[in-house]
Amino acid sequence: MTRLKTSSGIVLVYTGTGKGKTTAALGMALRAVGQGQKAVMVQFMKRKGCAGEHKSAALLAPNFKLHTFGRAEFVDLHKPSELDRQLAREALEFAKSTLSRAPDILILDEINVAVSMGLVKLEEVLALVKSRPKDTSIILTGRGAPKELLALADIATEMRELKHHYDKGFGAKLGIDY
Ligand code: ATP
Ligand code: MG
Repeated sequence: MTRLKTSSGIVLVYTGTGKGKTTAALGMALRAVGQGQKAVMVQFMKRKGCAGEHKSAALLAPNFKLHTFGRAEFVDLHKPSELDRQLAREALEFAKSTLSRAPDILILDEINVAVSMGLVKLEEVLALVKSRPKDTSIILTGRGAPKELLALADIATEMRELKHHYDKGFGAKLGIDY
């Protein structure tokens, strides 16, 4: 089969309950930066902290930029606060604003969770994806990707848990989990 050349940006979704969604997106950023491209990651509902990627970002600047929108405490998935909503809206507005600089890759980390919790509107996310500059690819991560988003995606991968070391009672491991 003769393959067409993909010159324009594509939409990728990493979803499912298995581990590897955020790190797959980070892997994409690493790959793109190596090719001299620009990648921006906007994180929903996360706090800037001890995760390795927050430290690596400085090593990959300015072609990789990481922006985190969240508060110090974990979000209560069943009862998000008004601050959680506000921060998620800010993250979405910020993500929109980055498109004016047409990055090669825009990663919206955990946005699927923000949508399923009702922190941001699905319609707004779909509109953002559709309004991207022609050459910008967008990666959306997080459990529970809505079907409307999967319909828009060019690549969608479900991480399915087969095993996870937490189930053996292990705690989060440096360099693997954060
Ligand atoms: P990672 O950031 O490691 O790629 P992820 O983005 O696929 O993971 P999230 O749902 O965002 O997964 O959760 C992030 C954190 O939760 C990580 O510390 C990860 O190890 C842990 N985690 C991910 N999947 C599972 C699972 N199936 N069971 C227990 N913990 C998990
Ligand atoms: Mg994740």
